[in-house]
Amino acid sequence: MVRTYYFNPAIDNVLPGREIVNALQEQEQTFNAHNNALNVETFFRDVLEHSLEDEGAEVYISSIMCVEDPQPNYQEDNCAYWHDHLQQAFFGQCFIQNDELRSLAIAQDIVAHEFGHGLTSWTAKLVYKDESGALDESFADIFAIFVANYNPNIDIWKNIREWNWEIGRGFGQNGQAIRDLSSPSTYNHPEHMNNYEDLAHDHGGVHFNCGIHNKAAYNLLTSQDNENNYLFDPESAALLFYQALIQLGETSTFSDSRRAIQQAGKTLFRNNYNKDEKLQAIATAFDNVGIFFE
Ligand SMILES: [Zn+2]
Repeated sequence: MVRTYYFNPAIDNVLPGREIVNALQEQEQTFNAHNNALNVETFFRDVLEHSLEDEGAEVYISSIMCVEDPQPNYQEDNCAYWHDHLQQAFFGQCFIQNDELRSLAIAQDIVAHEFGHGLTSWTAKLVYKDESGALDESFADIFAIFVANYNPNIDIWKNIREWNWEIGRGFGQNGQAIRDLSSPSTYNHPEHMNNYEDLAHDHGGVHFNCGIHNKAAYNLLTSQDNENNYLFDPESAALLFYQALIQLGETSTFSDSRRAIQQAGKTLFRNNYNKDEKLQAIATAFDNVGIFFE
């Protein structure tokens, strides 16, 4: 079940705010936000087969902040985050091109990213700093990419060649994206362990170093056989990452993730004729970003 709330900082002091009872009667941004959360729920339930009963949570709660006509001194809250204690996502808003004020919740990938943090908090409970925090960010990005590219039209969904690998297009500087799984370096993020950095800010660089694990995921998802066919279909790849995630723990590293994904692959693909090829592709995907077994 999805519950979406409207949060107005001028009126509401505490989260979540006023519950949206009928999304159809709300302004367009609110309607889109609610819909995006519904799509996340559908994907987690139908594709990942994630059962909410398992961890006691019953609802996907999000609060969105939408101030249509900000006062001249309006302070934008340019962020979206997962609130672990309250077990809900929060979406602020920011000015995009043309000085238009938009809620971050209108972006399907951003909504999926924040509920991706929900998913990690219900499962691996990765500590949000340093390498485990970067892994948390990466898993949120990976599930965001799956959800944002998910399409009931199977032909579109299976056409990985046409997938969008960016996170937050339009919300970055000059209308750009915020991150790109296919090319983390576009946003000055590392894509190899040689460039891993312990940053003094951003919880040790969780939004920076996640680029390395993101690139490994991109490598994996775009692995091809000798005839240029994609080795992994999107559903089983999504399950692969999910099955690995639930094996991880609070202080897991990128290496632990590689091990868990390889392990999950052995089970998931055990009856596939090209099982060995798939397992080799997983290993190569991580080798190419310098993530090895410790
Ligand atoms: Zn995040």
